Amino acid sequence: MTNTIGVIGLGNMGRNMAATLVKKSFTVIGFDLSETACKQAAEQGVIAATHLSTLTEQCNIIILSLPKAEHVEAVCLGDNGLIHVVSPRTTIIDTTTSVPETSRMVAAEFSKQNIAFLDAPVSGGPAGAATGTMSMVIGGEMEAYKQVLPVLEAMSSVRVHVGDVGAGNIAKIANNMLAAAHLITTAEALTLAEKAGVDPEKVLEAINAGSGRSGASQAMFPTWVMTKAYDSGFTMGLMRKDVGLAKTLAQSLNLALPMAMQTAALWEDSAQKLADSDDFCCIAQCTNPLLFGKEDEV
Ligand code: NAD
Repeated sequence: MTNTIGVIGLGNMGRNMAATLVKKSFTVIGFDLSETACKQAAEQGVIAATHLSTLTEQCNIIILSLPKAEHVEAVCLGDNGLIHVVSPRTTIIDTTTSVPETSRMVAAEFSKQNIAFLDAPVSGGPAGAATGTMSMVIGGEMEAYKQVLPVLEAMSSVRVHVGDVGAGNIAKIANNMLAAAHLITTAEALTLAEKAGVDPEKVLEAINAGSGRSGASQAMFPTWVMTKAYDSGFTMGLMRKDVGLAKTLAQSLNLALPMAMQTAALWEDSAQKLADSDDFCCIAQCTNPLLFGKEDEV
């Protein structure tokens, strides 16, 4: 393993992961289609490459942080993709929340060239990426996982190797289906209490000391909803994608999962009120615009 790491996709997550690796004494070469993203990353010590080949010549570990599966497929297997320029014995760590089948297909193509591919989606948001405290769920060969463990450890505080390639995305999709549901059910619980005449701030405190607590009640509501900050760095568009991935996976397995389907329907409907660029916590406003909306917008 060399000390030079490539990062493709320097957005809210990738830029902060790259900056964390720089702080931990790795040399990081980054690539993004957006000039602004490259500039911001360069300000944090990342060497911005203008061509993928600059990065593949110098790195045998490459991290992807791209919006969706289609971007992963294009960057890996497209006409000018990694598959044409990557060196043998490279390991690719894909932190994108993606489609398990895409991870398996891309990994199979790379394995023909002796290149390992791990799907390793993350939780913890830009703040977790910036502090190296993300959690990662990883799918892929154990040998490849162990080889890149020092890099994964620099980026995360918790790692769970969940199975073969694709398993990381299945675990992440299951997690985000719950997070998407908990945001709505917590908004409903606080609305119920408020309408019944009890202070929702106090009820949130009570829930967080009780059995109804979740990541939504313990982190998302106190940090981004009750404060009306709505600046988590994770967008409605990306969460709608994740909820859609859960729905598609359930349907492909012929599973009814009524709560998951209702969650998917509510997130789909939210597109009528909330833009893809809005913060994902704004979903609470669909339950109760007066309680959770910004004062100047209600
Ligand atoms: P983002 O939109 O901020 O960043 C994505 C970056 O990829 C952009 O800078 C874009 O220009 C770049 N990109 C797109 N196509 C490219 C290409 N072909 N070549 C090079 N660069 C390209 O997204 P994000 O919030 O950083 O999320 C990245 C991934 O991580 C997503 O899959 C998301 O679901 C997941 N995720 C995000 C968060 C979060 O809190 N933001 C948390 C966990 C997981």
